[in-house]
Amino acid sequence: MPVKEILLLGNPLLREKSKDVVDFDSQLNTIIDDLRDTLIDFQKRKKIGRGIAAPQIGILKKIIYIHLSNRSFALINPEVIEKSTETFEVWDSCFSFNVAFFVLTKRYTSITVKYQNQKGEILTEKFSDDLSELVQHEIDHLHGILATDYLVEKNQIIMRKEWEKIKK
Ligand SMILES: [Zn+2]
Repeated sequence: MPVKEILLLGNPLLREKSKDVVDFDSQLNTIIDDLRDTLIDFQKRKKIGRGIAAPQIGILKKIIYIHLSNRSFALINPEVIEKSTETFEVWDSCFSFNVAFFVLTKRYTSITVKYQNQKGEILTEKFSDDLSELVQHEIDHLHGILATDYLVEKNQIIMRKEWEKIKK
């Protein structure tokens, strides 16, 4: 399966709203394979990144792929059905920024998400902390929202080299 080109900040497709997946067919499996290959290629080259959303490869469908050291899975048609009142701040970047800079964003500490898996089965799962932040970031992509949209203050954006100095 081919590695796809990742669309960069400024590409209007990143601002579109994605559509629901209706057919759980071979075309869907191909998109998921492409997302996985593109994500793994990017992780290897940039040494960072755990998730990707279909609009980032130009496909306006509600598909997210997450690749962690212990788990890889697709979230299809994800919908946040519950949010914690508690929030936390995290430095966030994006493949679509080429991970060149980081933006300080406020995220819910935990979220409960209803989604479908690759077979179309409906699941409900609670994500906490760094996984909560990751899933919120990827769901934002499906609504045309990027981390830079959260910028309100001057000190909220830093280059990767500066981030390396402060990351835990
Ligand atoms: Zn992103």
